[in-house]
Amino acid sequence: RRFHFERIGRLFENKVHTTVLEVDLDRMIHNLNYFRSLLTGGERMMAMVKASGYGSGTFEVAHMLQQQGVDFLAVAFADEGVTLREAGITMPVVVLNADADSFETMIDYRLEPEIYSLSSLRSFAEAVRRSGETHLPVHIKLDTGMHRLGFTGEQIEAAIAALKETPEVYVRTVFTHLAGSDEARHDDFTRRQIALFRTWSDRIVGAFPDLRILRHVENSAGIERFPEARFDMVRLGVGLYGIGFDHPERLLPVSTLRSRIVQIKEIPEGDTVGYGRHGVAQGHPLRTATVPIGYADGLDRKLSRGKWSFVVNGRKAPIVGNICMDTCMIDVTGIEAREGDEAVVFGEGASVEEMARVLETIPYEVMTSVSTRVKRIYTKE
Ligand SMILES: *Cc1c(COP(=O)(O)O)cnc(C)c1O
Repeated sequence: RRFHFERIGRLFENKVHTTVLEVDLDRMIHNLNYFRSLLTGGERMMAMVKASGYGSGTFEVAHMLQQQGVDFLAVAFADEGVTLREAGITMPVVVLNADADSFETMIDYRLEPEIYSLSSLRSFAEAVRRSGETHLPVHIKLDTGMHRLGFTGEQIEAAIAALKETPEVYVRTVFTHLAGSDEARHDDFTRRQIALFRTWSDRIVGAFPDLRILRHVENSAGIERFPEARFDMVRLGVGLYGIGFDHPERLLPVSTLRSRIVQIKEIPEGDTVGYGRHGVAQGHPLRTATVPIGYADGLDRKLSRGKWSFVVNGRKAPIVGNICMDTCMIDVTGIEAREGDEAVVFGEGASVEEMARVLETIPYEVMTSVSTRVKRIYTKE
C-alpha cells in the first residue's frame, strides 16, 4: 500500500491510452457517504450501476460498493448482472428491465427481477419451476405516475392474488419510481406519487405478513428533497457519480475525461481548420492543438466550433471548427501548450453539468455517452 503502486499503474495507463476516462473511487465513496449521512433512520441503500455505472465502469464501481456495504445493486438488463457475477460480485443484484427471454440466465446467476406485470410474474414463475428452484425473490414495481413500467392501483389486488398462487417466488421489495423528484414545480405530483405508493404498498405488505418486505421510492434527488419518503431503502444513482440537486457543493465530481495533445500547429491568418473549413484563422494567425478524441469517442459533434473548450494547463482552449470522428482541434493561441500536454474534456474546470447545459441535455446522457473504446482507469488511495 505505502508504495503507491496504483500511481505507477495510472502513469502507465495514461501512456498507453491517450484518451482515458479517469474515475476517482475515493470521491465516489465521499458521495456515497454524503447520501448515507442523510439516512438517519437506518434505511438501506440500493446503488444503481446500470449503463455500466452511468458510464464510469461496471466492475470496479460495483466492487467498491460491495466493499462499502451497500445492500443491493441494480442494473437495467440481465447481461449487465451476469458481468457483475462473473467479476465476483456476490451481493444481491436486481435487474430492472428483466425480459422473459433472460429469466433462465438470471436464475442461473442469482439475479433478482423487477416484476411489473402479471405476465412477467407468470413467465418468471414458469422459469423458476423449470430450473428446479423453489422460492426466489422478486421486486414488485408499482406505477404511481411515471407510466413506464409497473402495476397500477387497479391491478394491485390481482397482483396479490397471483403472488399468493405463485409459491415459486416471494416478494423481497416493493417499489415505485418518481417522475419529477428533482424539480420543485412537480412537488405536488411527487407527493401524490408518494401517497399512492404508501396506500398501494400497504396492501401488498399487509397481504404477506410473514415476509419482511422492504419498501423503496427515492432516487438521488428524492433522497435529498423528500426526507419523509425514504421508507426502508433508497436507490442512489446519479448522486453517487457526483451530480447533486439540493446541495451539489457537497458532492465531488468523480470522472475526468482527458486526452493529450498530439500535434501543435501554427495556422497562418486566413487558413482554415478541419472538415468543412469551419475553423477560420480570421484576422490573426491561430495556434491549434490536435487532440485524439472525436465524436466516435462520445464527444458530441454539437460541441464543435467553440461551443465547448478543453482545459489545457489551467486555461480554456475552445474547439476549433468541426469535431472529427477520432480527433478534434482546439485553439491554444496564447496558451503555453506543448505536444504531450494533457487536455481535459470534462472534469476539473469543465464540468459535466456545464457540458449538459451546452448540449441541452442532462448530465446522465453526457456521462453515459463516453464510448466504450475510451479506456476507463480507476484511482483509489
Ligand atoms: C436509474 C434509476 C434510479 C436512480 O435515479 P437517479 O436519478 O440516477 O438517482 C432509481 N430507480 C430506478 C428505478 C431507476 O431506473
